[in-house]
Amino acid sequence: PPVILYEEVVKRYGGFVALNGVSARVHQGEVVCLIGPSGSGKSTLLRCTNALEAIEGGRIVFEGQTLPTPALAAPVRRRMGMVFQNFELFPHKSALENVAIGPRTVLGTAKAEAEEKAQALLVKVGLADKAASYPSELSGGQQQRVAIARALAMEPEVMLFDEPTSALDPETVGEVLNVMKRLAEEGMTMIVVTHEMTFARRVGSWVVVFDKGRVVEEGVPKQVFEQP
Ligand code: ADP
Ligand code: ADP
Repeated sequence: PPVILYEEVVKRYGGFVALNGVSARVHQGEVVCLIGPSGSGKSTLLRCTNALEAIEGGRIVFEGQTLPTPALAAPVRRRMGMVFQNFELFPHKSALENVAIGPRTVLGTAKAEAEEKAQALLVKVGLADKAASYPSELSGGQQQRVAIARALAMEPEVMLFDEPTSALDPETVGEVLNVMKRLAEEGMTMIVVTHEMTFARRVGSWVVVFDKGRVVEEGVPKQVFEQP
């Protein structure tokens, strides 16, 4: 069975229909890339996936269970790592503290153990030497890699990426995409909203094309990108 199943998902903002009956599925170990024009509903689907927002119709099934309403979704949300466009790190905490804080406060991991785990994750994202740096001392690409490490520290079953490179200087985009590619190679299940078509083509296992709140096409990258 899929890790995540979307069935005829409907999401409205007032009278505006942001998701108009979206069905899709995400299997274990897949990298599902959501592409399509700005405003077509991709980010909305991600925010509904970890129940940051409620849906008005259809359902989203995660690991066999229909998602609860946002108010009840904290335990489910914890099993999904979210990476935002603008990093959203704690500005007054070092890179190490940013990564360690989830395990410390949510999982109840002891300080030494949480910091050891955080350091290992910083190594994994190529920031071994930046543990003591504050977000303001890091480039956008470095901050985003800290944000990825922070999400991984919670040992999520799925990683959700919402345009993770859109706010970056072009020269730091590659380092973030490389970290994501390595995660994919390790078998992480990922949903990635992106405008990086090269990434979608090379790393994506399944591509879902949105337009005006609907899925207008989906398939393996070869199929989606090589049509006339
Ligand atoms: P159906 O409900 O008829 O399977 P879908 O549109 O969900 O309709 O799927 C159509 C085909 O695409 C099926 O063969 C399905 O297995 C495949 N498919 C759908 N989503 C994925 C995915 N995320 N990864 C791989 N194959 C998928
Ligand atoms: P995409 O990620 O494809 O660029 P979004 O999911 O961000 O698209 O947005 C889909 C549509 O929903 C857009 O027209 C956007 O303006 C609208 N929208 C998104 N969030 C809100 C909100 N909180 N209130 C009202 N409209 C919203």
